[in-house]
Amino acid sequence: MTAYDDQNIFARILRGEIPADKVAENDHALAFRDIRPQAQVHLLVIPKGAYVSYDDFAANASDAEIVGFNRLVGQVAKDQGLSLAEGGKGFRAITNAGEHGVQEVPHFHVHIMGGHNMGRMVSLL
Ligand code: AMP
Repeated sequence: MTAYDDQNIFARILRGEIPADKVAENDHALAFRDIRPQAQVHLLVIPKGAYVSYDDFAANASDAEIVGFNRLVGQVAKDQGLSLAEGGKGFRAITNAGEHGVQEVPHFHVHIMGGHNMGRMVSLL
């Protein structure tokens, strides 16, 4: 497992060292707008704890952190009008992990993308 780099950009956002366009927060997670949006709505949800990737988070986060993180994903989908339960048209949730996942920022995050049809999943094979 890659060691957590506490100088990564999302760690710096969590410490308040650099700004972010925050949209929601709870005890365990923060949601903010992606700085280079690739969809009409493009948000990132990150845990407040130091986890490199989804597998790190799933294996090592506490139950409270996992619940808090997932609740914030649900909340932002609802707040942005994307939630199917609220009459929205849905969204795509993506997480990239490591080299083959082409992860740029080594702090676990989920991309929430929507506002229009997101097209088919990409295949490089
Ligand atoms: P990934 O390739 O899954 O690691 O995606 C990292 C995402 O973080 C990219 O979509 C970037 O546009 C986004 N990003 C990088 N720096 C910032 C920042 N300072 N504020 C918001 N989003 C950022």
